[in-house]
Amino acid sequence: MNRLERRKCDICGKLIQPFGYMKLSDGNMCTDCAKLLSPMLKNRQGADVDYIKRHVEYRKENEKKLKQFNPVTRYGYDKKIYIDSKMFAFLVTNKLEKDIAAGNPDIIPLVQVKSCETEIREHTPKGVSEDDVSKDVSLYDFIVTVKLESEWFDEIVVSLNGERIRGRDNRIYKKCESDAKQLKDTLMPDQSFSASIPERKSHNVYRL
Ligand SMILES: [Zn+2]
Repeated sequence: MNRLERRKCDICGKLIQPFGYMKLSDGNMCTDCAKLLSPMLKNRQGADVDYIKRHVEYRKENEKKLKQFNPVTRYGYDKKIYIDSKMFAFLVTNKLEKDIAAGNPDIIPLVQVKSCETEIREHTPKGVSEDDVSKDVSLYDFIVTVKLESEWFDEIVVSLNGERIRGRDNRIYKKCESDAKQLKDTLMPDQSFSASIPERKSHNVYRL
């Protein structure tokens, strides 16, 4: 046997195939274990065996907790932010409520939320004249950035709308605007927010 054939996964202990592994700072992990990690995991580069082992344990606990997760509120279209007000936690997924556990989305306790920024990004198509601008041909994205105090995650960035919204005078724009404001209030309940017209802080970006 050569060295590659004898190599074991330092997370699950199974023999790993040549090339079918990922390097950790002090060991190796098989691709099956790599699939268990959250896609949002921070400090993945240079992670050590202990960090990944604890993270995998956390992911298994998360999977169990999802059975108790009972969303009372949902925000967004493509990516959805579900809130469980009893568990005092939220999660982000593109799945509908009946499939909420698919992919083991991370349940984030609200106490871990450090900040929640919402912004509207305006994209004006190239070659648009001043006249066209007044007709509101722009496309809009509603972006929510949640910064976290967590061992596993730094921040979550969510586009509430998915496909860009054409113009402001439509149902989807208004729903996203309302969702963004409510979401900020829900995730940061101690901070008052302004329901007035968003302030334009920089070119083409509105913060709510
Ligand atoms: Zn493994």
